[in-house]
Amino acid sequence: MRGGERICRVTVHTHDVEKAADVLRSGGLVALPTETVYGLGADAENPAAVARIFQVKGRPSSHPLIVHIGGAEQLDQWVEEVPATARLLAERFWPGPLTLVLRRGHRVPLEATGGLDTVAVRVPDHPVALALLSAFGGGVTAPSANRFGQISPTAADHVHAELGDAVDFVLDGGPCTVGVESTIVDVSGDAPTILRPGGVTREDLEAALGRRLEVPETSSTRVPGQHPSHYAPRARVVLVEPAKVVVEAESVRELGHKVGVLLPASLAGTPVEAHAVVAVPDSPTAYARALFGFLRDLDQEGCDVIVASLPDEEGLGLAIANRLRRAAGPRGSL
Ligand code: AMP
Ligand code: MG
Repeated sequence: MRGGERICRVTVHTHDVEKAADVLRSGGLVALPTETVYGLGADAENPAAVARIFQVKGRPSSHPLIVHIGGAEQLDQWVEEVPATARLLAERFWPGPLTLVLRRGHRVPLEATGGLDTVAVRVPDHPVALALLSAFGGGVTAPSANRFGQISPTAADHVHAELGDAVDFVLDGGPCTVGVESTIVDVSGDAPTILRPGGVTREDLEAALGRRLEVPETSSTRVPGQHPSHYAPRARVVLVEPAKVVVEAESVRELGHKVGVLLPASLAGTPVEAHAVVAVPDSPTAYARALFGFLRDLDQEGCDVIVASLPDEEGLGLAIANRLRRAAGPRGSL
């Protein structure tokens, strides 16, 4: 297994957090746990360090990053103004898997925003990430700690396997509890808009705001999570209706493929002739937490096709369906 020889520590010591903060101060890259996925972090105010993130990920430098900060009270330091909607959402959902896009403050270099006049900011809900932000004192800009277009890492092992020595320090905070990326809400204009569904549900946002929110199917190509192909395993992903998963998997197998199956909870216990079968949890929370790990496992098993279906697009199901669609998107489009 790639990266399997690295030792995985789940207890994080103050010493490690201090060391990681030093690495950030000297312009290095630190992989850090958050509740969503592991991030590849750099000092948000150091353009050279930020440039290394793009180089290591193989990500186009025009694609903006999220600036992670230690508390909602720091928001004003990073943005030009905080409209009432943003204040309300920050107070209600931070720390948590919600990213707010606002007008960029002077502290944020254009390198971190892909040249945009807006900046994405969030406060992660993870004790290790918060300890690092507190020890470091500044903002940490961090996309997911994976190569561009690939599956996001939800455990430190995934980061070692994916990035190896390209990252200067890996803080191991155990498996991520949310498992899909943050919800991104653009609050820089008149009407708040969901740019990417994620760990905070549309329903919870709408309840907090007392209004309906639009989720545009395709938004700016500057948002990599909105590229047709993203979050993609090596295996080709085929999406069908839940009732057709077994038939589809077996006919793909007959064509000579090694088929992996994400078996919907509604079909639990149904026998399937396939190379590998993963029973999808009934609870959207549990499914979101495990989704990227499932895709990774099926790749590791050597599957070349993964057959899956979309969950109901309510609650966290919206983010899960979004990630599965991107995983199944046309590959030539990156
Ligand atoms: P990741 O793809 O894991 O790096 O997560 C970062 C996400 O935040 C990406 O989808 C970015 O495009 C998005 N993002 C960051 N800054 C902005 C911004 N100013 N406007 C729109 N999206 C942004
Ligand atoms: Mg990513």
